[in-house]
Amino acid sequence: MGASSTWRDEAMHVMVIGAGPTGRSPAVMLAEDGHRVTVLERDAAPPTGGHEALWSAWSRLGVGQSRHPHLLLPAVFRVLRAEMPQVCDELTRMRLVPGNPLDGAHRSGISGGPRAGDERFPMTGVRRPLFEAALDAVACRTAGVTVRRRTQVKALPAGRERVQGRPHVAGVLTADGEAVLADLVVDAAGRNSPVGRMLRDLGAPGPVEQRDESGFLAYTRYFRARRGMESDVPLWPSAHYESVSTVSCAADAALRSVSFVVSRRDRALRAMHREQLGNAVLRLFPAEARWAGDGEPVTRILAMSGMESRHRDHLVDGLPVGTGVLSVGDAWATTNPLFGMGVSLGLLHAALLRASLRSRDAGDPQELALRFGEATEKVLSPNRRHLGAWVRHRLAGMDHPVRHPRARYEPGDRDWEFRRTLDTVKLRDPCLLRVAAAGAALLAPPQETVGDPALVDRVLGLGRSTERPWQPGPSRTELLAAVGAG
Ligand SMILES: Cc1cc2nc3c(=O)[nH]c(=O)nc-3n(C[C@H](O)[C@H](O)[C@H](O)COP(=O)(O)OP(=O)(O)OC[C@H]3O[C@@H](n4cnc5c(N)ncnc54)[C@H](O)[C@@H]3O)c2cc1C
Repeated sequence: MGASSTWRDEAMHVMVIGAGPTGRSPAVMLAEDGHRVTVLERDAAPPTGGHEALWSAWSRLGVGQSRHPHLLLPAVFRVLRAEMPQVCDELTRMRLVPGNPLDGAHRSGISGGPRAGDERFPMTGVRRPLFEAALDAVACRTAGVTVRRRTQVKALPAGRERVQGRPHVAGVLTADGEAVLADLVVDAAGRNSPVGRMLRDLGAPGPVEQRDESGFLAYTRYFRARRGMESDVPLWPSAHYESVSTVSCAADAALRSVSFVVSRRDRALRAMHREQLGNAVLRLFPAEARWAGDGEPVTRILAMSGMESRHRDHLVDGLPVGTGVLSVGDAWATTNPLFGMGVSLGLLHAALLRASLRSRDAGDPQELALRFGEATEKVLSPNRRHLGAWVRHRLAGMDHPVRHPRARYEPGDRDWEFRRTLDTVKLRDPCLLRVAAAGAALLAPPQETVGDPALVDRVLGLGRSTERPWQPGPSRTELLAAVGAG
């Protein structure tokens, strides 16, 4: 079926722009539902040669964060098990088996021991190219999916208008000048997706883009665990201190990454990226200190900036900015990577797209765009907004001691106070630990916790008895002294 066909409740030709985690997922799901799917990807295919070749030889110019650590949250495994169980099998075949974020807490005894329901939390850190290769292997063997590499989409050809004043997209035009027609184009081109610009070139009044300030810098290093360290799991993957947050991510092959996240405005702390300071900095952080000396560094310190949250609204005045095209994953919205939610949101979005295309009015491009937009708003946007608010406060809190070394950051926002306190007290109470895990895992919507007055009172009450608002660890002054900038 080409773009000349009318939309109807039968198999379509779906064109997916981008073979990242989000793009490959609807490709598999929609092909399994009987659609013909073509994925166009500007980068090369994964190399053969196993895990190390994937890690060192796969050039992913289209994905700047490809070598940065990726946590796959329980929401990823929930979607995979429900929608694409063959990817779980592929991950097992590749020996990428999930652990549980509560493992460290179980070992230390603070979880109150394993409880019914803890199995909801499968999670793993992964070298991202390996996860992508697992998805790729499944996509390539799914009947109905064609993946074309080194094929860049340059423009969107317009078809017959379905909504007055809003262009209808009839397929894509590649950099080689080839027009490929489709009934539906899925924009999975990532955080720098060109589709918004291409739609505006066709006369669309959007999408309207909102961008948060890009305020964080991340410094990451991978270590290989020496014998005996493999089971040394941290109590929780992320921790927040006065001027720094850390993320500790286990990966395959006894690797672990440690990331320090600082405010871009805190110029003095940029010295943390100097490799010769590595051990002096690591030793200050209780959860990471064991890597100083005992872990073998296997990469340089990888720096990442430009991690802003961004959202593209595809509805203007209640109408889709264009029909025949839907944006998913990072092309729709990016969230700050501190919480490792990007892949989860992309996979949840892919599942929403599948459900929308199974609905009765999927054959009507306007109805499809509206239904998909509503589902996105209802299911995904609360997480995006909630995280956005957290990030704004966290950044302001990190910047605060630079200008006011003696005063605490207290903006008087109860939701923020609750989230911050829950982060600090969760390791003291087995129930709160699981509440925090369900929220961080994207298994419970944020309104479920912040909207529970008894829970909020209990957490804030526990917080009142703590001296410092963050986990025990280095103050900014101690950090500055360690990096020689005090
Ligand atoms: C530093 C950092 C750390 C992160 N850590 C985590 C984490 O721990 N856990 C987590 O879940 N998420 C994390 N994320 C977010 C995660 O990387 C993204 O959410 C995820 O990559 C989104 O997948 P995607 O498929 O939507 O987009 P992408 O992965 O960006 O894929 C887009 C694809 O489209 C292709 N493409 C782009 N333009 C074109 C074109 N014109 N024609 C053809 N192809 C095109 C690109 O080559 C690319 O393959 C992190 C992000 C950053 C920046």
